[in-house]
Amino acid sequence: MSDIIVQKYGGTSVGSPEKIKNVAARIKTYHDRKLPVVVVVSAMGHTTDELIELAEKVNPNASKREMDMLLSTGEQISVSLLAMALEAINIPAQSFTGSQAKIFTDGNFSNAKISMIDRSRIDESLGKGRVVIVAGFQGIDKDENITTLGRGGSDTSAVAIAAALGAKECEIYTDVDGVYTADPNKVQGAKKHNQITYEEMLELASLGAGVLHSRSVELAMNYGVVIHVRSSFNQNPGTLVLSEEKLMEKIKVSGVTIKSEEARVTIPDVPDKPGIAADLFGKLSKSDIIVDVIVQSSPSQGRNTISFTIPRKAVGAAKSILEKFVSAHSTGKLDIDEHIAIVSAVGVGMKSHVGVAADMFQALADKSINIEMITTSEIKISCVIKEDQAKIALQAIHTAFGL
Ligand code: ASP
Ligand code: MG
Repeated sequence: MSDIIVQKYGGTSVGSPEKIKNVAARIKTYHDRKLPVVVVVSAMGHTTDELIELAEKVNPNASKREMDMLLSTGEQISVSLLAMALEAINIPAQSFTGSQAKIFTDGNFSNAKISMIDRSRIDESLGKGRVVIVAGFQGIDKDENITTLGRGGSDTSAVAIAAALGAKECEIYTDVDGVYTADPNKVQGAKKHNQITYEEMLELASLGAGVLHSRSVELAMNYGVVIHVRSSFNQNPGTLVLSEEKLMEKIKVSGVTIKSEEARVTIPDVPDKPGIAADLFGKLSKSDIIVDVIVQSSPSQGRNTISFTIPRKAVGAAKSILEKFVSAHSTGKLDIDEHIAIVSAVGVGMKSHVGVAADMFQALADKSINIEMITTSEIKISCVIKEDQAKIALQAIHTAFGL
């Protein structure tokens, strides 16, 4: 492990010239302590969205290669400006594109995976006492095409660089103070965690609590890099994302989340025989429809009921598949409820505490909230409920677990 500091600043942290200067001032405090600093930066503010809009005006069906070429320019702006802001306060700095920093990826444009980082150029620049600034979200494939890592991918660039440099920690600066027990905009009394595990963070990110790019958390977990999520607008310590072994105490439930704008599909009276579910979900997946909660009843007289959730905006695309399936296999009526939400409680402590599910169901029952579907994993319990009860449900579960 080395004492190299790896920091990543998100789009809001570098959203204006003033904010870029503030970031430079923060970096100076590390440089003044003679620490080698490598900084990864996202594009300023909404630059990436604006570039996408621009492309759509020219060609709504642009190739992914050209999209990556375009989108990578957002980060090229922010890295150079940050280097200039450091120069202005007499800190030697050098900015690099992903390709100059030798971040190699596969050739999967718009969602490329990092295959290798050759640290030589970063080391050379650090060796000259410079702050190294690397464009996030991008790399280069073996044919020297510019690639991007998927929206929000700068987090992944930063963690990959931290892993390649053997840094103990990767600081991710954002516009929130850290990871909370629930969305503070939705739940009164939501509190910031000092620590949370990689596993919990992955569940919370996929549930929509998205502070971090999921792949950055997977990488950090694989390479043992501690992620420190913190705000660039104050000096408060944020939340450490680390392994379960390093966790000081395991609380039963560490986060409560809600996923709304979902729809529930129920198909009753389906034959209980091999291949039926494979047929249905195979067709949905071919149409790129993301299915979340799936519940199939146990059979009665050779028939069962299949229920599942899909994003509400996918209902239109799913309908013809579902109608065909129902007319081929079911004697019942297709039921689609477009106003449901999924509330979930996540916590590694669930592995060792009993009664967590019962407590969650009781909290909902006390508010007369009906549970339409339930699924669980080792560290997560999810309930499908009516959308208009989502806010009350979230607060009730948050309170029930003493968060
Ligand atoms: N600029 C890219 C995006 O907006 C990458 C990032 O911000 O992490 O998705
Ligand atoms: Mg982000």
